[in-house]
Amino acid sequence: MPAERHITLIGAGLAGALLATLLAQRGWKVDVYEKRGDPRVKGYAGGRSINLALAERGRHALRLASGDDEVMAQAVMMRGRMVHFRDGRTDLQRYGKDDSEVIWSVHRGDLNIVLLDIAEQAGARLHFHRGLDSVDFESRIATFTDDVSGTSHAVGFNALVGADGAGSSLRTAMAREGDLGERTEFLGHSYKELEIPPAPDGSFSIEPNALHIWPRGRYMCIALPNDERTFTVTLFLPNEGDPSFATVRTGADARALFERDFADALPLIPELEDDFERNPAGLLATLYLDRWHLDGRAVLIGDAAHAMVPFHGQGMNCAFEDCVALAEHVDRDTDLASAFASFQAERLPNARAIQQMALENYLEMRDRVDDDDYLLQRALELKLAERHPDRFMPRYAMVTFQRMPYAVAFERGQLQRQLLVDLTRGHDTLDSLDWSLVDATVRERLTPLPRD
Ligand SMILES: Cc1cc2nc3c(=O)[nH]c(=O)nc-3n(C[C@H](O)[C@H](O)[C@H](O)COP(=O)(O)OP(=O)(O)OC[C@H]3O[C@@H](n4cnc5c(N)ncnc54)[C@H](O)[C@@H]3O)c2cc1C
Repeated sequence: MPAERHITLIGAGLAGALLATLLAQRGWKVDVYEKRGDPRVKGYAGGRSINLALAERGRHALRLASGDDEVMAQAVMMRGRMVHFRDGRTDLQRYGKDDSEVIWSVHRGDLNIVLLDIAEQAGARLHFHRGLDSVDFESRIATFTDDVSGTSHAVGFNALVGADGAGSSLRTAMAREGDLGERTEFLGHSYKELEIPPAPDGSFSIEPNALHIWPRGRYMCIALPNDERTFTVTLFLPNEGDPSFATVRTGADARALFERDFADALPLIPELEDDFERNPAGLLATLYLDRWHLDGRAVLIGDAAHAMVPFHGQGMNCAFEDCVALAEHVDRDTDLASAFASFQAERLPNARAIQQMALENYLEMRDRVDDDDYLLQRALELKLAERHPDRFMPRYAMVTFQRMPYAVAFERGQLQRQLLVDLTRGHDTLDSLDWSLVDATVRERLTPLPRD
């Protein structure tokens, strides 16, 4: 095996395990070094959110790695957003036209285990309890520490791929060699996870096939179903102001907040005080880099390259798209330096676009899903998608159910947003619209959609 067909991955999380599979399937020799222990031995040791929404981009990557069937066997379908209003009313806002356009709730730990299994079956070698410490890029030696024994291990490499998440150690090592143009923008909001257990008869205690949202202006709760009939609730609050994580500090404070703002959720979360006090608050931020690679010696993917806020449910989906793109580039290009450069050229603009859309979606989810203008624009959006399926597709659908580049979805989304604002201006209902003018405007302003 020539050295250039050998690659060393840092991190066996979601992106690392999937990329290992895709490369090993293409005949590459792959070694993966993971800081934590093997989750298949001692159970999953946590990490970021407990469950995640899997969409078409992620599923496509899983299909290519032959992992989709196994993942989908444990996934729970979410047809739309179930909005919980303050007065206790609920409204299911469908994501797509029918059950072919849905998203799936998957358990992070179970998904990681499936991915590790397929990576190993494909021939990748996994090394656990190996946290990257430092890299000598000159002599191509990476040093890892075993967090159990405290021993240090020096390993030679041909090229490194950083799939070690938002706090990437490889990124830190690369930044010592040259400026990556790194900046982090904190959202000023954090999150905490709580749990809705199954009902006394063992069934789901609220509608299982939905992503539940309690929008409350500057803050919100969401809940995603789990295969074992629980829901993971995520409370998003600002870090300062009232209410915020500065004023809601104890379990009793959390109960008072829920009594006031999330009254219908409160009886569903019997361990609210304990969950709130036990679980850490996670910070939310967007990470921007201008450079993702160090010639042919190292490259970053997934959160290590472009961590984003979670409000479009696309961080993992985007990381999976990175894996497919990187596997194709390294396999196709003649040398790794040009493969990493073309990977970055393809993916960086798309990462920027989904990062921006994820930020915008926070405002939409917490503040707009119960607003009259938004609901009218949303109703028109669905009508236009029906009348002009070749030209108009809601931005959420372009991101979630299609695989066109994120940057294209972003650009078309901006044109469509302006169109919706212009067409609904001065109207309270769709009945008063002049449909021949509406149709002509759509044809004039929107070119036909690209298809996958
Ligand atoms: C609250 C929340 C909700 C989210 N919801 C969604 C969602 O619904 N849908 C979606 O698509 N995305 C979602 N995301 C985003 C998603 O979690 C990430 O985009 C995804 O986990 C990125 O995968 P990754 O492999 O790049 O990083 P990670 O999953 O963070 O994996 C990194 C791996 O590297 C290992 N590691 C770290 N440091 C080292 C080191 N020094 N040496 C060796 N190994 C190391 C870690 O132990 C870990 O296994 C959410 C994120 C959050 C915070």
